[in-house]
Amino acid sequence: MTVTEIATGDAHLIGDDWVPAADGRTIDVLDPATGEVVGRVPRGSASDVDSAATAAAAAFPAWRDTSATERGRLLLRWAELVEAHAGELDRLESAEVGRPHWGPPPMARMLTFLAGQADKVQGRSLPTHDPDALGFTLREPYGVVASIIPWNAPGPMFANDVGAAIAAGNTVVVKPAEDAPLTPLALARLAREAGIPPGVVNVVTGYGHEAGAALPAHPEVRRVGFTGSPETGSAVMATCARRLVPLHLELGGKSPQVILPDADLDRAVPAIVAGITLNTGQICAAGSRVVVDRAVRAEVVERLAEHMAAVTVGPGTEKVRMGPLINARQRDRVLGYVRTGRDEGARLVTGGGTPSGDGFDRGFFVEPTLFDGVEPGMTIAREEIFGPVLSVLEVDGEQEALRVANGTDYGLVASVWTRDVGCAVRMSRGLQAGQVAVNAALGAGVIGGPFGGYKRSGFGRTMGADAVLEHTQVKTVSFRG
Ligand code: NAD
Repeated sequence: MTVTEIATGDAHLIGDDWVPAADGRTIDVLDPATGEVVGRVPRGSASDVDSAATAAAAAFPAWRDTSATERGRLLLRWAELVEAHAGELDRLESAEVGRPHWGPPPMARMLTFLAGQADKVQGRSLPTHDPDALGFTLREPYGVVASIIPWNAPGPMFANDVGAAIAAGNTVVVKPAEDAPLTPLALARLAREAGIPPGVVNVVTGYGHEAGAALPAHPEVRRVGFTGSPETGSAVMATCARRLVPLHLELGGKSPQVILPDADLDRAVPAIVAGITLNTGQICAAGSRVVVDRAVRAEVVERLAEHMAAVTVGPGTEKVRMGPLINARQRDRVLGYVRTGRDEGARLVTGGGTPSGDGFDRGFFVEPTLFDGVEPGMTIAREEIFGPVLSVLEVDGEQEALRVANGTDYGLVASVWTRDVGCAVRMSRGLQAGQVAVNAALGAGVIGGPFGGYKRSGFGRTMGADAVLEHTQVKTVSFRG
């Protein structure tokens, strides 16, 4: 059986069993380019969450006590299987998210990195007042952890959250997004095939207000990871607050791309357009605000418009650069922001509508859209649109650039484009974001960089060694012989 067949088998994973929802209900998964059904998954409820959390709790003691070397080895085997199925996983994710092929899927390398962290979870030796005493710390897993993930990049989200949690010795219950649960199910199947024991990884598919809401509320859940919108994150945090369980929140962004007068525009402009059209702008880290010095604004706008207009749009199965948005609600939301942008006085330079012609009538397409003359107080400069809409804000000098770049509630990613090393250093320190890139749009290929937000973009870190440590709690041990 292929991973695709398994993923569309109407079953989710609880302990060792692929089972339907307790009450038999299902959710259809749609291709956003055509509206056609590409899969069907269980519509899990509190009862399924209870079964999964119980299975995870039963699996925990043995997994915690499995040697860290062995846990790492199993994770590595999982990474190898994911690599072997890379093409198939890529097509599956593309079918449910609607994006074109965007290069080799990153899940195998993410899992390889996390596998290497399993046996590097270490405590510290502590000094003592008394020569007859010893003191040290242990880093121990929490137990059952919950992971709630969004639809925009279900494969990488699943690999990062699950990999970090189980590398540290926790067991996990994942609730994928209702729009894109197939890639997580396929990855869970490969985890089992790799020999990761039953109950260590569980997946309950379903809606947010049903399975999603039940998961952080379950008494077996000792820690929660949430990636999604600030509104839902706040609701999940309220549940965690009532139960006094810790969590990390990976939320939205309104990331600035700061362009100073000496920037290399030949590099900056294509990278910025690629960043806002990748996955149709449905990336938390998307650089959606161009904060540009007045000396080069006109040239930047002209070049951005040219590049935006050249972005090909169509179903992800075709050789295009940009696919549809995930669903009709998201498309209408993006078009609503475009209307608001015009109403509030921003100048629409290119795009702003839905593409017409053959093949566009059934999917949830919008055009790559560029606004100039955007002021910091405007709605499109402050709120996350989660679509291919780029706003240009003019500033005068480095100080104003920094003030405007930092002038939103979010703080996920920020880029600065300059050849002046001193300015790059000052901006790197001054930008309020969990990730800062100099002369690069997204990450610049760093391996093992922790990812997370400042301010309303959340707290805690996924990816990197920090993510594994965040899935542990510290115990101080002191003893005498
Ligand atoms: P969302 O908040 O609507 O949904 C995210 C997940 O939460 C889904 O699985 C959903 O079913 C679940 N959910 C919904 N209501 C729930 C509830 N009451 N209790 C528990 N779970 C519930 O977000 P979305 O629209 O699917 O995703 C887009 C958002 O995710 C954007 O804001 C984006 O910036 C953010 N995001 C952040 C990161 C990051 O790493 N910071 C990465 C990707 C996406």
